[in-house]
Amino acid sequence: MDNKIVVTGVKGRMGGTIACLVQEDPALELAGVVEKADRLHGLEKYNCPSAGDLSEILSRTGRCVVIDFTSPEASLDVAAACAANKASAVMGTTGFSSGQLEQLEKLAVETPLFWAPNMSVGINALLKILPDLLKLLGDKYDLELMDIHHKFKKDAPSGTALKLAQVLAAAKGLNLEDYGVFSRKGMIGERGAREIGVQTLRGGDVTGDHTVYFLGPGERIEVTHRAHSRETFAQGAIRAAKWIMGKKSGKLYTMTDLLT
Ligand code: NAD
Repeated sequence: MDNKIVVTGVKGRMGGTIACLVQEDPALELAGVVEKADRLHGLEKYNCPSAGDLSEILSRTGRCVVIDFTSPEASLDVAAACAANKASAVMGTTGFSSGQLEQLEKLAVETPLFWAPNMSVGINALLKILPDLLKLLGDKYDLELMDIHHKFKKDAPSGTALKLAQVLAAAKGLNLEDYGVFSRKGMIGERGAREIGVQTLRGGDVTGDHTVYFLGPGERIEVTHRAHSRETFAQGAIRAAKWIMGKKSGKLYTMTDLLT
């Protein structure tokens, strides 16, 4: 039956949340959990096979979907193991370099893979409507973005902030590589009209806030998304796992494929 889920990085903030939600879902079976080999203690509580090596679990589970929120290097290994074992994967890891994303895209030709830097429905709805707002406002509004996350987050800016900035840059016909400004300090001169500022705040236990500022003459619009808990991302990943069951390989699926 197509209901088996394997969770990698299960001792992490996201992995632990996802494993618990999978166990609570009567339509799914938690078929295995994976962690770094030196962090395997205590995984008996999940009452399913556990290992430091995903391939070992996949050789036992048969057809399944792996849900992976770990690190860019670990996620690439997960995608490769899934391709070798004919498993599908839903990945939420952020911080991939463009080269690493290209590798993911290549592996998605071999096996069904899904990647979204933000699994919440709210952020993905924003990604869809913000270009329309930009068009309505015209080119007199400066664009700035800010992300706030907990102090343990490793990558900056967040994958979501980058995605929002990329989508808005594309809507302006610009390349974020050329017009993104990721820090400011000192006598930097006036702001360039086409700059897209992306600023990062880190601290405390903030799950994830993103604000897009449209700064115009005499007014500004601030569009803010606040994630109240990790469950919103975890539920999105589980929805993606159910969606990808039975899908064919060929492209790296994203939230846009799921929501349209
Ligand atoms: P975390 O540090 O709490 O958890 C990562 C876990 O992965 C750890 O338990 C670590 O031991 C494990 N891990 C690392 N390498 C491994 C390997 N080779 N094999 C097995 N396990 C391995 O981090 P987190 O807060 O859970 O976030 C994980 C990733 O998910 C980050 O990139 C974060 O930015 C991203 N994230 C994405 C979304 C989204 O909606 N897409 C939401 C939240 C977090």
